[in-house]
Amino acid sequence: MSFVVKMNGAPNNGINGNGVHHVSVRTHVSVNPAKLKSHRQRWNVRPSEMSKKTLNPIRAIVDGMKLTPNPEKPMIALSIGDPTVFGNLPTDDTVLQAVKEAIDSHKYNGYAPSVGYQKSREAVANFYSCPEAPLEGKDVILTSGCSQAIELAISVLCNPGDNILVPRPGFSLYKTLAVSMGIQVKFYNLLPEKSWEIDLQHLESLIDDKTACLIVNNPSNPCGSVFTKEHQHKILAVASRNCIPILADEIYGDMVFPGCDFQPLAPLSSDVPILSCGGLAKRWLVPGWRMGWILIHDRNYIFGTGIREGLVKLSQRILGPCTVVQGALESILNDTPPEFYQGTISFLKSNSEICFSELSTVPGLNPVMPSGAMYIMVGIEMEHFPDFQNDVEFTERLVTEQSVFCLPATVNYSSPYLILFCYSAFYLLFVTKIGCSHSDT
Ligand SMILES: *Cc1c(COP(=O)(O)O)cnc(C)c1O
Repeated sequence: MSFVVKMNGAPNNGINGNGVHHVSVRTHVSVNPAKLKSHRQRWNVRPSEMSKKTLNPIRAIVDGMKLTPNPEKPMIALSIGDPTVFGNLPTDDTVLQAVKEAIDSHKYNGYAPSVGYQKSREAVANFYSCPEAPLEGKDVILTSGCSQAIELAISVLCNPGDNILVPRPGFSLYKTLAVSMGIQVKFYNLLPEKSWEIDLQHLESLIDDKTACLIVNNPSNPCGSVFTKEHQHKILAVASRNCIPILADEIYGDMVFPGCDFQPLAPLSSDVPILSCGGLAKRWLVPGWRMGWILIHDRNYIFGTGIREGLVKLSQRILGPCTVVQGALESILNDTPPEFYQGTISFLKSNSEICFSELSTVPGLNPVMPSGAMYIMVGIEMEHFPDFQNDVEFTERLVTEQSVFCLPATVNYSSPYLILFCYSAFYLLFVTKIGCSHSDT
């Protein structure tokens, strides 16, 4: 007997060349019949150990706080981690147009290769490539947001029982992911008096045989700090001396205030292997689109093929990010006008300046002026506020009295600081309120 197999519909246009699905069909399965029999007498469905070990510290702290706003004052939430909620920071029309065109092209409805379309990977590579750290499409893995980029990077570098070095104060996701994977987290200190530079001695003292990766977040969430080239050279020297690869979380790359320079980490090193993570969420103001990437920098061939293959395998667990956004990526990166980026930056800068100058006048509060990103940290001298034990209680009272909600920095493992998100439309109102709050007491 012979079969004729016909191809239906559009011919393979090369875009989705990897869309082949292998199905393994087992014909003869010999199983021990005794093993098939379950002796379970009743239902016992419980959440897995991994799910129980997955904890978001922001929820853990915020959900436990007493947050009853003053009914006489409208709520001012400066604690919301999403720059789109107030509607005052829209993305650029170019960005929206790119997605509309991607949809209308009907080309992006199928499965892409799990690491992303080659064309989209090349667009990211071209955007970030530089002579000291050249990138090609093969060096880019597209992911579902920068969060998944970080997850894949940690997963490919670390085994259970290993440890990773994480900044404090820092972005809480690193710990959330690591702990759920059985990876230990060691916090290295950032120094507020040195513009939140890394305490390099402390960092190096934490390294041991089980240290699998160093996470560097620059520009920083929540510090708003931007490292100098010189400081980054020193960080790289620590990594190089101890042969520790780096996960560089550079999602706020280029989101720095005028007069300040963002220097990506990878071009500064000729030997340390670096996985640089980024995405569309912050700079292009579309966090909900879930588009991120890993840039593989390995000029000394230390990652070799192993880490690259590992990343490809891990990407196959969820088969890559949204194809429509992948289809729009080239245009988003190449066609967004410089004025859009500048507009976002000057908005963030003026908000943080208002906040900084007003809060500086309040005895007992020490704001640290940020140089970039979307946050400002405000130190609380607890001896000025004897009513409060810590920043959590201070935050609670700010809500009850003034209906102003900031995040206590405890959520980022550092105390006592307040974290304010700099994109609220209500900044002026807020600093006025804080001023009142102080003179009232
Ligand atoms: C927002 C943020 C991320 C996650 O970005 P997504 O693309 O939304 O997953 C990663 N790192 C830092 C430091 C962030 O602030």
